Amino acid sequence: MATNGDAVSNGVDSNGATELHHPTTPKNGEGGGDRFTFSQEPTFEEVRRLQAEFTDERDWNQFHQPRNLLLAMVGEVGEVSELFQWRGEVAEGLPAWTDSEKEHLGQELSDVLIYLLELAEKCHVDLPQAVLRKMALNRLKYPAGKVHGSAKKYTEYKE
Ligand SMILES: [Mg+2]
Repeated sequence: MATNGDAVSNGVDSNGATELHHPTTPKNGEGGGDRFTFSQEPTFEEVRRLQAEFTDERDWNQFHQPRNLLLAMVGEVGEVSELFQWRGEVAEGLPAWTDSEKEHLGQELSDVLIYLLELAEKCHVDLPQAVLRKMALNRLKYPAGKVHGSAKKYTEYKE
């Protein structure tokens, strides 16, 4: 059951993006500079709210308990994986992919994000704050001066 309004199967924008249309916001992360960046909007909270509206309008909260949302999210991760399957390694920016393939990837990544945010909501995890706390922990675990250029796990470093 595609209960997040799977954009691939029904062609409908699952997050009601028209409500968030900001003509002055750079599109598709084209914010200038060499490194790819995201648009400023929507925020996690805006996506959470839009998905909550989508779910409420369809009386789907009865299906959206944490475990079901987790399994749905993992299923969507599988759909992302299918797009990369059998291609070998691909370069940053996916230069060999067609626009249609990149659009499809954006849809599947969005499905993962939508379920992730709804899972966090239904578990009462304030994800924007939790991610900041976790990144602070990651900086402590992997001090830049100690791990620079190394892919070792933190348990492999000697004190
Ligand atoms: Mg999907």
